[in-house]
Amino acid sequence: MVIGLTGNIGSGKTTVCQLLAAKGCLCLNADLLGRQVSEPGGEAYAELRQSFDAAYFDEAGNLLRAKLAELVFNDAAELARLNGIIHPAVLRCLQREIEAAQAEKPQQVIVVEAALLVEANYLPILDQLWLVWADDQVRLKRVMKRDKVDHEQAQARMNNQLPQAEKAKYARYIVHNNKGRAELQQELEAVWQQFWQENMKQED
Ligand code: ATP
Repeated sequence: MVIGLTGNIGSGKTTVCQLLAAKGCLCLNADLLGRQVSEPGGEAYAELRQSFDAAYFDEAGNLLRAKLAELVFNDAAELARLNGIIHPAVLRCLQREIEAAQAEKPQQVIVVEAALLVEANYLPILDQLWLVWADDQVRLKRVMKRDKVDHEQAQARMNNQLPQAEKAKYARYIVHNNKGRAELQQELEAVWQQFWQENMKQED
């Protein structure tokens, strides 16, 4: 069973993943893999070097992420070019990690966390999608606090993502995270029980 866990910025994906890991799930972070594949020697590195100007790399060959982020933030064609390199590489890595984990522990529930599972079309490698949902104003406050950015900067990051209601169309379960941590834990417990009942019971 491979669950995709998505949600827009500040919704609480990482927080939910920590709770799922405590339940014994194996959590894979696709955003983290995205950074790994673009490091020197990584799966996407050679293609990145060919596709982007030398000015986007430092003397040691490391990708200057902030500089590239600035470029793609303002240019949809460049963003598409970057995604066309990163996402296929991350998908290949994920597939290998999932296969290895399944071979080692066939009953384990695997959770793939990423903000862009829907946008980047990772759905074919997942058995089902969960969405962590928090209202825009709640997410805005969390992002401002966590990243120490002002209202405008937080809003700009939020604007770049597909609306939650669109993602909800693909989701089998929604984890509501508008309230505090204790409420989130309760909500996740309820979703987990429903998930287990509906998907895993026969495997108990
Ligand atoms: P991103 O897409 O930006 O990586 P995310 O969806 O992974 O975000 P988290 O990092 O889990 O979201 O949560 C955003 C911030 O809000 C964090 O600082 C986290 O500790 C906090 N947070 C998450 N859920 C709650 C909650 N229920 N109560 C209070 N704080 C929370």
